[in-house]
Amino acid sequence: MIQPLLTINAVRSAIQERKITTLALMEEHYERIEKEDAQIGAFLTLCRERALEAADRIDRMAAEGEPLPPLAGVPVAIKDVMSTRGVRTTAASKSLEHYIPPYDCTAVARMEAAGAVVLGKTNCDEFAMGSSNENSAFRPVRNPRALDRVPGGSSGGSAAAVAADMAVAALGSDTGGSIRQPASFCGVVGLMPTYGRVSRYGLIAFASSLDHIGPITKNVKDAATVLGVIAGRDPMDSTSANLPVPDYVAELEKPSRGLKLGVAKEYFGEGLDPEVRQAVESAIDRLNSLGCEIVPVSLPHTPYAIPTYYLIATAEASSNLARYDGVRYSYRARGVKSLSEMYRRSRDESFGAEVKRRIMLGTYALSAGYYDAYYLKAQKVRTLLARDFEEAFRKVDAIVTPTSPTPAFRLGEKSNDPLAMYLADIYTVTADLAGIPGISVPCGETRDKLPIGLQILGRHFDEATILRVAHAYEQAA
Ligand code: GLN
Repeated sequence: MIQPLLTINAVRSAIQERKITTLALMEEHYERIEKEDAQIGAFLTLCRERALEAADRIDRMAAEGEPLPPLAGVPVAIKDVMSTRGVRTTAASKSLEHYIPPYDCTAVARMEAAGAVVLGKTNCDEFAMGSSNENSAFRPVRNPRALDRVPGGSSGGSAAAVAADMAVAALGSDTGGSIRQPASFCGVVGLMPTYGRVSRYGLIAFASSLDHIGPITKNVKDAATVLGVIAGRDPMDSTSANLPVPDYVAELEKPSRGLKLGVAKEYFGEGLDPEVRQAVESAIDRLNSLGCEIVPVSLPHTPYAIPTYYLIATAEASSNLARYDGVRYSYRARGVKSLSEMYRRSRDESFGAEVKRRIMLGTYALSAGYYDAYYLKAQKVRTLLARDFEEAFRKVDAIVTPTSPTPAFRLGEKSNDPLAMYLADIYTVTADLAGIPGISVPCGETRDKLPIGLQILGRHFDEATILRVAHAYEQAA
């Protein structure tokens, strides 16, 4: 039986001490997936053979008494927007339903090189566009904590897999909140690293100036461990930063006493659920009692973040998704009579409604005559948002906010109202736009037992501090 709350460290030591084998642990996780996932829908593809090979390698190392790498034997789940060589990668889109990549995403390759056992690929919103996982072309995901609720999105399958103990850790991607928001809805930890900290080579692009890869885990220490594995310069991604990667796990032990934490009134305004507000306020009190100083800060451009995000993200998406033309590897319509008909029908038949909406919005924002009024203006506001944070980080070491204005909502509750859905990202999109790191850590639950997340935002490339604050809070709570 899988112990609940089985963490990365526990797995690695149990294997090193030969109390369990990687193979047995892997099998237990597959059994659990078989039992639970018909209901939850977290996985789109399982890759048993690949997992078996990885498990075998670790078990041999353990048998020889070799020192084990940091993720040795850890069963993990990978969001299906990350390429896996020889294993179907769909982005939860009909357009890539049968796509088998010829290479591995760098983050996945690094996880495996560190000993992780990839169990399979997780469900998500199509091309990572959404906040509820209902935009998957294949099936929605249900929140393991409340089956009538969404798990959040777009990395809902990854968050649900970890929350339901179907994987010990997972990778997600975050363009406007897609790691942190599902983590908060499912009661697990989600970390979006600084833009440039983790290579995106092999990530199916949604909005290239906003896309990030990061871990979803059961606790903060595991998030620190995974980040240490996947972070760092990759010659295959020119946007990956050539900076040293700290020992994030060792950094957790530094005291959090004396750190200055900013609280911005803009994140506690209209639309914030009273139970979420209360939980986050008591988490802030708790951090204060741990010796952190609470400092009011202002992030005055916050009200413009959602429109700015939905202009820039859709503009970049319209450009990135132009490649799915049915010629090379995406879905191709049958029975067409001309090239233009093939393009048109291939795209029409294989993209879902939200993806089409984004392509249209983005194409509009980029078109001649509107470019200056929309796209260029949005870029300028993006700079103002980033400056808000720069200003605030002169005074404080990190900023604490709710992760999402509400707890997990019901399936279907917002699916016919795109604007209401977009507002679910109100507290998360700012960090993507500014390129700063953010983490969501569980901070209690509502009366209906729905998890609530505390978000901690930090300076560029200072994941160590937000991990440290999150860890201190987690230990105390
Ligand atoms: N929910 C946001 C959107 O729909 C963010 C998605 C993401 O971070 N990938 O665009």
